Amino acid sequence: MCDIETKPWQGVRIVYVHHVASLINSASHVWGKQAWNTGDLSKNNWWLALISLGESWHNNHHAFEYSARHGLEWWQFDLTWYVIKFLQIVGLITDVKLPSQEHKQKMTFNN
Ligand SMILES: [Zn+2]
Repeated sequence: MCDIETKPWQGVRIVYVHHVASLINSASHVWGKQAWNTGDLSKNNWWLALISLGESWHNNHHAFEYSARHGLEWWQFDLTWYVIKFLQIVGLITDVKLPSQEHKQKMTFNN
């Protein structure tokens, strides 16, 4: 007997994650706002952030691909970042990468 027969929610989880990931990579290139001058169509999308646990601050992600934090503003819900920050506080992870002020300045539209 496979997992999908004994744990039907596993199928729901897998379908949900794949559809949300696909939605981020399509909708976040169409709807939302650009905070950074990335030279592409990536956008930050608040409503998609709610259902993707914060993964749809896609313009932030395009501007700072290495950043562990996608929701760079306090109001940008990013549950993944909260988990990463917690793991850092309790000492389970180190060397968490975040964008520097210099890199943020370089990526603004005012340059
Ligand atoms: Zn993208």
